[in-house]
Amino acid sequence: MSTIKTVNPATGRTEKEYPVMNESQIEAIFEKAHQSFQSWRKTPFSKRAAVVHKAADLLRARKDELARLCSIEMGKLHREAVAEVELAAAIFDYYADNGEKLLADRPLEAAHGEAFVSYEPIGVLLSVQPWNFPFYQIVRSAAPNIMAGNTVVLKHASNVPQEAEIMEKILLEAGAPEGVYTNLFVPGSKVSDLVADPRVKAVSLTGSEEAGASFAAAAGKSVKKSMLELGGSDAFIVLEDADLDKAVETAAWGRLWNAGQVCCSPKRIIVLESVADAFIKKAKAIYEKVVVGDPLDPATQLAPLSSEKALETVLKQVDKAVGEGATLVYGGKRIDRPGAFIEPTILTGIKKGTAAYSEEIFGPVLCVYSVKNVDEAVELANDTEFGLGGTVFGTDTRKAVEVARKIDTGMVYINHVTGIGPELPFGGTKRSGYGREQSADGIYEFVNKKLIRVT
Ligand code: NAP
Repeated sequence: MSTIKTVNPATGRTEKEYPVMNESQIEAIFEKAHQSFQSWRKTPFSKRAAVVHKAADLLRARKDELARLCSIEMGKLHREAVAEVELAAAIFDYYADNGEKLLADRPLEAAHGEAFVSYEPIGVLLSVQPWNFPFYQIVRSAAPNIMAGNTVVLKHASNVPQEAEIMEKILLEAGAPEGVYTNLFVPGSKVSDLVADPRVKAVSLTGSEEAGASFAAAAGKSVKKSMLELGGSDAFIVLEDADLDKAVETAAWGRLWNAGQVCCSPKRIIVLESVADAFIKKAKAIYEKVVVGDPLDPATQLAPLSSEKALETVLKQVDKAVGEGATLVYGGKRIDRPGAFIEPTILTGIKKGTAAYSEEIFGPVLCVYSVKNVDEAVELANDTEFGLGGTVFGTDTRKAVEVARKIDTGMVYINHVTGIGPELPFGGTKRSGYGREQSADGIYEFVNKKLIRVT
């Protein structure tokens, strides 16, 4: 790969190309990030917070333009992209407001004398991020670390280079000294080679299991801390007392958010046999009316997938599911127009042991399973290697919470698809990764929790 290029998935047109950075450019980036850390770590919280708040303001001021870029580079619906930019700004603000408080010394009840934990930055974080939320993903990784006094070298996905470039410019404009946050234009296949660089002190990756495993293996080899946010196959359990219309609306539209390319979207809908037919009929009625089209058109409800390759993968997964006995209730085909468009799709009757049962489908494919009772629902929800998020839908929320406790994931939402909030921890368990981003938890991932003991 000699260039990083951005192709509009709604038209197939190449929008822009950037040369891949050479060795001396990469060397200069790591050196600058390392040097910059020496002064950024000593910069008072108030000054760091001013930079981070300003970055939030700049995102908000430019949200329409930035959102258009998301639509052009990876096909996101404009209104969803605006909401994403606002969320990214809220995350900057959250850490600017709370960073100092969260990282204040923590007194300990020591048996003798005085003891406390001092939270100290560790240096350069190498962060690798995916394209599906081009602004949110990089901000949730960068914001806590910039506030903690670390410096960040960020390698964004190769199909969203313009967002990558803009975020660096925004942080510089906000007053971040050079080297506090730097964009790295290199292909994913090369980034694990950079982990061993002694100036890199920790690594973080959001993306596929394959990428995460290779990146974390490189970190393990050099004894560096890693954090991984990987794929998911969230279950959405509909309890018997659920309002069926609301449950269908939430699951069906939740699955179409970002054209189904969300790590924590409701990928496995689990309903009781008694209501399964009604649920599927209602979901089909919704999908039959979905307006598919240009992500910049306000009437559009389902935009294209992020690339031709992404479309081919989802089409193959749907075909394979049907080949292995699943029922295609609706959709499943490429739409006959330029761009990476697929129909909203419903699959039922997916059997254990088939690919569709165990794989993550990263597209607008609603997979509906029917079970006899809640125990079976929980068993099915947990019968996966993934452990990211999940939903329990029911009117008696105390009962729903009891079911939520039995789900082996990092997050469970009641009566809502797995969501996102700056103050709420985000992350998974099992093969969905480890560590947490956002909230207080996010700022403690890459700091040295140093004990100081006075006797
Ligand atoms: P991907 O191929 O793994 O790409 C993600 C990032 O990793 C990109 O920047 C990519 O760079 C880089 N990369 C690729 N191969 C690598 C390697 N061997 N070593 C290090 N970095 C590498 O992921 P994707 O398939 O595009 O994204 C979708 C996946 O991400 C899904 O599984 C989704 O569920 C997951 N995801 C998880 C979360 C979460 O918070 N848990 C959030 C969003 C997405 P290039 O673009 O240059 O290849």
